[in-house]
Amino acid sequence: MPDRQPHRGEATSRRWECRCCDPPVLLAMYDSDGQIQIKIRDRFYRFYGSLGRVHATCPRCGTVHELDLEKTGHDTALAKLPTQS
Ligand SMILES: [Zn+2]
Repeated sequence: MPDRQPHRGEATSRRWECRCCDPPVLLAMYDSDGQIQIKIRDRFYRFYGSLGRVHATCPRCGTVHELDLEKTGHDTALAKLPTQS
């Protein structure tokens, strides 16, 4: 999938991902305006406004990530949960 070039005035989309494997596991997309887009099965959810922090668990390795949208994309790996198998 080719990278989409951002148009002028459009916020740059960034990937929030867990780098436990190659290619990395995509957790969500977010942009420099603090919006976040989360894909759940066949649906896309887009969140606007002051979101603060968002948690996501990597489906592969079970690491809980925290994305701080106030700091635009400060990702912290919090804990590792047991993976379901
Ligand atoms: Zn992972």
